[in-house]
Amino acid sequence: NTRALLEKQQEIDSSAVAYPNDIPIAFEEGKGATVRDADGNTYIDMFAGIGVLNVGHSNPYVLEAVHEQADKFVHTVDFPTEARLELIEKLNEIAPAGLKDNNRVVFGGPTGSDAVEASIKLAKYNTGGDGLIAFRGSYHGATPGAMSLTSNKKFKEAYTPMLPEVTHVPYPSTFADNEVGDAESICSRPASECCGSYSCARALEEVQQVLEDPYGGLANPAGIFVEPIQGEGGIIVPPEGFLQGLRDLADDNDIPLMFDEIQSGLGRTGEWWASDWHGVTPDIMTTAKALGGVGFPLSATMYKEELDTWGPGDHAGTYRGHVVGMRAGTRAIEYIQDHDLLAHARELGEYIRGRLQEAADGNDRLVDVRGKGLFIGAEFVDADGAPDDDAVDAIQQYCFEHGVLIWTAGRHGNVVRFVPPLVLTHDLAETALDVVVEAIDHVTD
Ligand code: PMP
Repeated sequence: NTRALLEKQQEIDSSAVAYPNDIPIAFEEGKGATVRDADGNTYIDMFAGIGVLNVGHSNPYVLEAVHEQADKFVHTVDFPTEARLELIEKLNEIAPAGLKDNNRVVFGGPTGSDAVEASIKLAKYNTGGDGLIAFRGSYHGATPGAMSLTSNKKFKEAYTPMLPEVTHVPYPSTFADNEVGDAESICSRPASECCGSYSCARALEEVQQVLEDPYGGLANPAGIFVEPIQGEGGIIVPPEGFLQGLRDLADDNDIPLMFDEIQSGLGRTGEWWASDWHGVTPDIMTTAKALGGVGFPLSATMYKEELDTWGPGDHAGTYRGHVVGMRAGTRAIEYIQDHDLLAHARELGEYIRGRLQEAADGNDRLVDVRGKGLFIGAEFVDADGAPDDDAVDAIQQYCFEHGVLIWTAGRHGNVVRFVPPLVLTHDLAETALDVVVEAIDHVTD
């Protein structure tokens, strides 16, 4: 059955479909953290549709509200509905500390890219600027503005020119700190304001130069756009002090700091937002993926009340919030709260990273295990120390053949990515990790 579906897809679907080229699976049913394919094989899902299904496939508590809402009505543009107002209130409740009491939400349309576009517009509208700072290794989406912020050339080089004023600067990581360097030697600000790592200090210095250098800097900055943990870039966790450093630079230059929490948000890291780990509040932030509860396409931009300057219709569109998706989103957040899934994500993440770290000890091909909560990456190199995407592809295939779905990430494709549903049980995680560790041994032996 699977073969027939894959062949038919090849025949009639776009040549742009990506995922069936990685593993040949056709979905028949999903429940919690498992999926069944068209031939009745069951898999443990450590991918969750790119980290979308935080409360699991077809979560019954969420679906109950979905059915109720769908029986009443499905579409209203942005007229007030209980579903809409209820989700805005829920988002206010879980917003980062500095946004809680003055949060505004604009529903951007179905995809994460829509929320990124809305953020760019909001930043430009409020500052009158056009220059944006983004980071190397970032991924922000597939529409023109979001593509411009994305750094990986593979996604955009066929479509130039992009937005003219995006400058990409290095994104720091604890892994990159293996580079020898003394943070304070390159930090022009007072020592107390320099973050204590080389890659972090270097990144902040570059941001500062781009903002303030009268010769080569941005003439008219509109904001800084950053993932608090890079997802597609390879689950890159920045060093302590980086987000606060960006916060200070944005404040000094009176421009908005924007966090892209599309992949890292809504409980994925064991906090509601990855930025909560650092206690830093953005002016504008994006959310999507898990926002639609069980996979309904829905995205939003959250922002500080003082940026709420758009007049009626200034950011208009047909789909400004999918009513069924909104119901699903509220229910999913409630489910995470009622089942204490943030704590579960933290604990299970530690267990998974522990198992991977055990596999890394004594294996010089698995060079880094990192992440927060259930947002986890494992980076592989070849015998010469070069990024090894072939090994990662082989690990993914081995896992698939043994009933576990995992995914890849990283600018070189050499990172195994784990973004399972937050409802993954400890037993299933253990079974999955037995397979993953076996795959690592098998491929890197
Ligand atoms: N930002 C981040 C951080 C993402 O991970 C993604 C999707 N992987 C996007 C934006 C774009 O979202 P979408 O694919 O829904 O347009």
